[in-house]
Amino acid sequence: MTVSLVGAGPGDPGLLTVRGAEVLGRADVVVYDRLVHPSLLELVPPDAERIYVGKTPGRAEIEQADINALLVEHGRAGRAVVRLKGGDPFVFGRGGEEAEALSASGVAFEVVPGITSAIGAPAYAGIPVTHRGASTHFTVVTGHEDPAKDSADVDWEALAKAGGTLVILMGAGRVGDIAARLVAGGRSPETPVAAVRNGTRADQGTVRATLATIAEAGVRAPAAIVVGEVAGLDLAWFETRPLFGRSVVVTRAREQASELRHRLEGLGADVIELPAIAIEPLAFDVPDLDGYVWLVFTSANGVAAFFDRGLSPAGLDARALAGLRLAAIGPGTAATLAERGLRTDLLPERFVAESLLEAFPAPAAEGECVLLARAEHARDVLPAGLSERGYAVDVLPVYRTVTATPDADVLDRVRRGEVDALTFTSSSTVTNLCDLLGDVPAPQPLVASIGPVTSKTLLERGLRVDVEATEHTIDGLVDALLGALRVPGRG
Ligand code: SAH
Repeated sequence: MTVSLVGAGPGDPGLLTVRGAEVLGRADVVVYDRLVHPSLLELVPPDAERIYVGKTPGRAEIEQADINALLVEHGRAGRAVVRLKGGDPFVFGRGGEEAEALSASGVAFEVVPGITSAIGAPAYAGIPVTHRGASTHFTVVTGHEDPAKDSADVDWEALAKAGGTLVILMGAGRVGDIAARLVAGGRSPETPVAAVRNGTRADQGTVRATLATIAEAGVRAPAAIVVGEVAGLDLAWFETRPLFGRSVVVTRAREQASELRHRLEGLGADVIELPAIAIEPLAFDVPDLDGYVWLVFTSANGVAAFFDRGLSPAGLDARALAGLRLAAIGPGTAATLAERGLRTDLLPERFVAESLLEAFPAPAAEGECVLLARAEHARDVLPAGLSERGYAVDVLPVYRTVTATPDADVLDRVRRGEVDALTFTSSSTVTNLCDLLGDVPAPQPLVASIGPVTSKTLLERGLRVDVEATEHTIDGLVDALLGALRVPGRG
């Protein structure tokens, strides 16, 4: 087995390399730092050991020698070890020391380079580190305040004479001194400077100044500080996204949250997952399907549960549905059926139970049978309405939604109203989040609802509904949110 020294990139989890994701997916042990994005740890098998070696306030920092020893020990034991570090492991990452320790102990290792913040953070601020006509080279240098921690002193005057682009890491605390030394070395006080803090993350911020003014500009760590003509370029694209700087809470169950998360992240939002519900499968037997004309699904969860907990254990597959007509409440449900090779015969115009009921044709014969596979507790609209229309309806509960146990810190943040928006995709997300919160958050963040049924539950629970999706889908919800929350003048 091998120890992999993996660069996680500067923050945006999408900047992990394909190779990095591969080794994380096969890890027995992951040794990780403070700035590593939590979603990268979700790539690690659930039973793998996760060892945090970053700084914790109030606790002594773990010595590099101890980290080296840990890697050697697990590597020797034959485990697949991933040492996951911010940026690139060999750019001010002490990955070199870890490789030396492994090499000296005869433990096999590999290096998976990452995108260093020295390039990634400027790129997300719209600053190319080289640019035709402006800069032919870039130098990455430490600005660490404690010279004892660096092997060599930085010759700032020489760097000033070299010109080009200078990217300073770990320099936020000393930026005034550094700027003064660069000016003393011959760089113009008018040279542009851009300090990119938390680069590539949802809370990225860029401070722009010159060598003469940067000391007073309020640069804070962690920042990549770019000095040179290119720092005057502003090809902004990330910080100008329409929802950049807005925090949006997603209350869907974790397994269902990814589509909404990705759509919102693409618009620049800081997405906070606070799953209010969890999907719990129920034990059930698939009835004799020959007796039915219609099979109705009202959620993607229902489809998944029906197949995975019903058909599969009974040794059946999609062919068992050959004689049935299929109805779905909306495109998400229909897409889940399509993934299993099934076309939906009936999809209503509006994606609510009332509309599905309207869309149903009259039964060919009185007492034609409908099987409705859905959540345990759900509204009566469909079964009652279909019975009235002359169908014989059997309701088959295939899953239930239960209240999830969300992260306490995130819950507190929402209670204090410290988020910009809450999104609700079903009545059960409303009921369960309200139960978890206790009181209505004050001030109440913007509330976005997927449709009228969810809105009604929101109002019943004392929340104000600020926007409701026109089309009752994830896309519709995102559009509604965008309309209400877009930063004026953006995208
Ligand atoms: N190996 C890392 C650097 C580790 S040193 C890399 O290749 O990026 C830590 C320093 O990196 C911080 O003090 C800061 O200067 C910089 N840094 C790390 N992440 C950053 C980010 N997201 N935005 C800006 N600077 C960052």
